[in-house]
This record gives sequence, structure tokens and C-alpha cells, in this order.
Amino acid sequence: MKKVLQIVGLLIVVVIVAGGIYVWQFYQHFMKVETIQYDPQLTIYLGGGGNSVVFTSEDSSAALVVDTKMKGAAKILKEKIKAKDITIINTHDHVDHTGGNALYPQAKIIAGEYTKKQWADDASKASRYPDITIKPGEEKVLKIGSETVHIYNVGRAHTFNDVVVYFDNRKLLVTGDLVFNNMHPGLIAKSGANVALWINALESLSKKYQIKTLVPGHRPVADQNALVVMEDYFVSIGDSISNKEKQAVLKEKYKNYVSFLGMLSFDNTLKFIEQERKE
Ligand SMILES: [Zn+2]
Repeated sequence: MKKVLQIVGLLIVVVIVAGGIYVWQFYQHFMKVETIQYDPQLTIYLGGGGNSVVFTSEDSSAALVVDTKMKGAAKILKEKIKAKDITIINTHDHVDHTGGNALYPQAKIIAGEYTKKQWADDASKASRYPDITIKPGEEKVLKIGSETVHIYNVGRAHTFNDVVVYFDNRKLLVTGDLVFNNMHPGLIAKSGANVALWINALESLSKKYQIKTLVPGHRPVADQNALVVMEDYFVSIGDSISNKEKQAVLKEKYKNYVSFLGMLSFDNTLKFIEQERKE
């Protein structure tokens, strides 16, 4: 009996240690920052929380920062920006996209419309609340040197008010978490996630913009097709409700997608859509 208890105890320790290592490794990977110098004025910083884009004017005096990352990665990003006149755009309120806002006390922050309470619930203390908000369906246009930047609020999708940023000359779209590239999406009901509206938003973006390069909220840079892939992910999983065979085929199709415990996974997406349709 004593031996059995010892073995069970040892197994529990192994599971806890392995689980700890798994979470630690995921976090390390999640927080790693990779820099892509897209062209002399535009830099993409992948990871470190959500992906970020920094666009600098020809004379280096002004910079536009799309999403500010979190914790140590937010500081790394801040150190890269030398311009004095900084405008920040937050694609949405989640902490991995807004956690560096407080590092820019002089900057103007632009985002969708969130109540202060919603912002506080989804973000962190370091996620300074926006100075300028954009209404659902509204598009704001900024001119930075020779580039025209569109900031468009698609309405409720991944959160209550997601905005995208489109660089006209470059045909480059920054989607925030409307696109998770090769990764199961974060679906948080209390943040306003709604798959039916999310699908509409993806469709409207495909029609609205000509896209050469697409910077997703997480994972590698993609192109226009990433919108279709994301839409297809939701539609096909929605169609597989109550059909175990279809689910098995889709599980196989998405087996290489990045997942994290039960939170980002095929089963989580399926469960979320099932629940949404019941409401
Ligand atoms: Zn998010």
C-alpha cells in the first residue's frame, strides 16, 4: 500500500512539473519578439504578446505604433521608437496588445469604443485608456508623410469593438486578433467575442481592402488569403456541430494549429460556437 501511495505521489509530482514546463515554454515562445524590417519606414514586431507594427514618417519625426505588447516585450518595443511625435492605435483592449500603453505618456492613443470598466477588465494597469475613440463602422484617415493610413472599426467581433489599420500605398492590413494565423483563436465571452459577427467582419474586410500583406494578431505575416482561412475555420467548425465524423476530419486538418491547454483549442472553438447558437 505504502509503495502504491509513493508511486501515485511521484506521478502527481511528474504531472505538475511537466505541466509547469509546458506553460513556461508556451509563455517563453509567446513573449519572444521577432523583428521584420518590411521597408525603410515600416517594421513589424512579431510576438511579445500581440504582433505590432511601427510606421515612421520619412523625416523620422513621427511614428505610428499599432499595439504596444505587454511586460518586458513592451519595453523592448518602446526602446526601438525614436520619434518624438507618437500616435498609438490599439486594435482592441486585450492586455497583450495594450500592456505597453503607459510607457507612452505623451502619445495619443486611438481605439474602438469601450466603456472604462470593460477596458479595465480586459486590459491591465499599464494599458492606458484611449484618448480618441472610433465608433463602429467609422473610418478615420491619417496622412503620415506620403502614406495614407485608414483606421476602421469593424464593430463587435473578437471583442466589443475591434479596429483594423490599413496602409494604402503598401496595401498592408493589420488585423489585430481578427486573424490568428495557424493558431486556435482566443474566444472570451466577457470581452464580447461573437463568432457570427466575426465572420461578417472578415467578409467585409475582404471586400473593403486590396491586401498584399496581412499582419495578424498572432503568429507569422500572411496575405489576403488569411481572411478566407480564418472565416473557413469558423464556418466549418460551426457546420460540424453534432457531426462527430466532420469533427474528426477537422481536428485532423487543424492538428498543427498552435493550441494552449483548453483555452485555445479545437474543442474550445466548437464549444464556444455551440453556446453562442443557444443564446
Ligand atoms: Zn485579443
